[in-house]
Amino acid sequence: MQPALQQRIAGESNGSRRSRWDRARVSLVLPIGVIVAVAIVCVVVAVLTSAQRADEVSFSREQQLIRQAISDNGVRVLRQLDSVAGTPHGAAAIRDNYDPQWVNHIGEWLQTYFNHDVVAVVDGADQIKSIHSRATPDPAAADVRLEIATSLNLLRGRLAALPAGTLDVLATQNPRQPGPTTALIQHFLGRPAIVAAVAVGTGDQLRSGNAQAPIVFAIKYIDEAMMREIGEDLQLADLHRIGTPPGPADYVTEIADARGDPIARFTWKPSTPGREVVQSVAPFIAIALAGFALLVALVIRYMRRTAEALADGEAQLRHLAMHDPVCGLPNRICFGERLETVIGEVRGGGPSAAVFYIDLDHFKDVNDTLGHPIGDELILNVTQRLSRILRGNDLVARLGGDEFAIITICASDSYSLQAIAGRIITAVCAPYLINGHNIIIGASIGIAVIDRRSRDSADILRYADMALYRAKNEGRNRACIYDAAMDADLSNRKLLEGDLHQAIQNDGLRSAYQPIVNASGDKVIGVEALARWAHPKLGEIPPSEFIPIAEHSGLIIELGEWMLRRACLDGRDWPNLMVAVNVSPLQFRRSDFVDVVERILKETNFDATRLELELTESTLLGNLETAELSMLRLKAIGVRFALDDFGTGYSSLLYLRRFPFDKLKIDSSFVRAIEKAPDAAAIVHAVVSLGRGLGMKVTAEGVETPEQHLFLRAAGVHSMQGYRFGRPGLASDIDARLATPEAYRVGSPDEEIALAS
Ligand code: C2E
Ligand code: CA
Ligand code: CA
Repeated sequence: MQPALQQRIAGESNGSRRSRWDRARVSLVLPIGVIVAVAIVCVVVAVLTSAQRADEVSFSREQQLIRQAISDNGVRVLRQLDSVAGTPHGAAAIRDNYDPQWVNHIGEWLQTYFNHDVVAVVDGADQIKSIHSRATPDPAAADVRLEIATSLNLLRGRLAALPAGTLDVLATQNPRQPGPTTALIQHFLGRPAIVAAVAVGTGDQLRSGNAQAPIVFAIKYIDEAMMREIGEDLQLADLHRIGTPPGPADYVTEIADARGDPIARFTWKPSTPGREVVQSVAPFIAIALAGFALLVALVIRYMRRTAEALADGEAQLRHLAMHDPVCGLPNRICFGERLETVIGEVRGGGPSAAVFYIDLDHFKDVNDTLGHPIGDELILNVTQRLSRILRGNDLVARLGGDEFAIITICASDSYSLQAIAGRIITAVCAPYLINGHNIIIGASIGIAVIDRRSRDSADILRYADMALYRAKNEGRNRACIYDAAMDADLSNRKLLEGDLHQAIQNDGLRSAYQPIVNASGDKVIGVEALARWAHPKLGEIPPSEFIPIAEHSGLIIELGEWMLRRACLDGRDWPNLMVAVNVSPLQFRRSDFVDVVERILKETNFDATRLELELTESTLLGNLETAELSMLRLKAIGVRFALDDFGTGYSSLLYLRRFPFDKLKIDSSFVRAIEKAPDAAAIVHAVVSLGRGLGMKVTAEGVETPEQHLFLRAAGVHSMQGYRFGRPGLASDIDARLATPEAYRVGSPDEEIALAS
């Protein structure tokens, strides 16, 4: 696993979580916060302004009430005065027959019962007849005369309008038509006072006016006592008169004259219903706001958690989307992204890099026969081995079922690349022991170099894929490096693939037969069936070209069955010969392989004991148990097995010992090397004695020269195959050869060599 990579992915997700939350905060939380703050401010402002408004209304109402109460006092003083002076008795005692004693009496009476401060009587000639005052001494008559002048002139009808400093208590007073009474608010001896006046006389006496009537005045000061009384009545605290003009913040009401000049000012503690309401609801508002704030906080916290949970989920999803569920390696998508990055780095001047595209041979086989749990375990093992050979910044990814890929920074020369590939192959191909199963798989590798000219990841992957194809065709467990010629190869191959398909469908293939002879070379003991394809345009195409195409495209299954049937049909004519048929790994590993062979034997009525199936080592890779089982089942009906191309693959003793082969075919490359490499000769010797030791027959392939023949015969090889004894030919050639063996006889190698020298 790539901890660095994982960390990077985790890091990215952390970052994305933060930015997601930031985005949410800007797009949602901020507006919500602003709305909530504005709402709170609005509520507070609304409460405060309506409270203030209520206070203002209440204040102006109280102002009005005070003025009304003073005015009411004026009316009351007038009524009290009128109740004594306005009576017929009063007219008799003051106007008709001035009675000083009675006048004195009512003066005292008004002061005692109604608290009038000054009572004065003026006769028809405007002369003051008497003055009664609560305070002693009585004020001077001249002073009183001055202060009552306005009321006097008013009642006498001498005024056009009220003069400055006076305010009419009776709103209906008309100076041009004065009634018998009046009441004014004015200054009296320096103090604000109510000055009430009543013209004395009977109804008849007053009908012609007040001009001649005596007038009684009652003055009542607007003093602290009156204000206290009014305050109590109106329930206004601390109502009192003030002298100096008010400061702007004071609660004050004024009694002013017609011109607006103040006569008296009052102040009091106004009732503040608004403020009281605010004070009483403030705790509830505070609780509501706190609740609101809490709610907002909870919503924000919830949103934050949700955003985090989403981000976590996203990171997890991203990890899942980018990684293989079985082995935890980055998957194809992740690999593609990384590859693009690396290509970008290399193009930007970074060190060269390469992609190693690894294909496991026989993994599918393991999966099919041993089950997916074992297959998964195998993938895990491969993963571990691959990870172990990686360096710091390398990336290993699983691209598909049995496909892995590695991106590594490395030199781009073929020596370095092959060295890395070699390490990979060695690691992957070492045997696995999983749940008691012995498993061997192979690996082919396609290498694509990333250099400054590399375009994109799709190109690099395509190159690696082409190189992989080449590696597989050149024999498995190999690595090939992509070169430009492979591109042309690929399109060629695609065309051939279609044509081959046609050929198989339309009986366009043929089977050639190459004789297999005994050690002395004088007797044909068998034939090997070899596929032939004459392309309608390109002519004869060698199996080394079309067999890999068939294997890659899956056509090999049909091709193999066709060959097996053809060989069985033709082989019926050669009753004493073994007929050898090549079996591709893909064919052999199919679960119905044994059934197919049995069916064809039955259909063609061919003797199973004369059939020899040639397998290569790579056919057996993968699940050794099922391979062995298939062989045993076919051996049970008499079919024989030859291990083909021995010496080119693993040449592992394991295969020889473990599998019930009847024959070992020494690869032609060894035969060719006999004369040139001394150890090749030694190896052939060893192989022959090994085969013999294991009870197997040994066949040498590709025998062309009498020297090879001589050597192999001396080494103890049982049978031989090669151009020296006959090239692959038509079935009719074998017929002819069987009919006249003498015509085809090969000379004794010793004689031939002697002759030549
Ligand atoms: P192979 O099974 O090793 O077959 C032997 C190959 O050696 C044949 O090549 C044969 O023509 C060639 N050969 C025989 N004697 C000599 C010799 O003295 N000198 C030289 N240089 N070559 C000799 P061929 O027919 O081209 O087939 C190549 C390979 O294609 C076969 O190798 C086999 O692996 C595969 N093949 C051919 N036919 C079939 C088939 O029907 N099924 C499968 N699965 N593979 C086939
Ligand atoms: Ca063969
Ligand atoms: Ca062979």
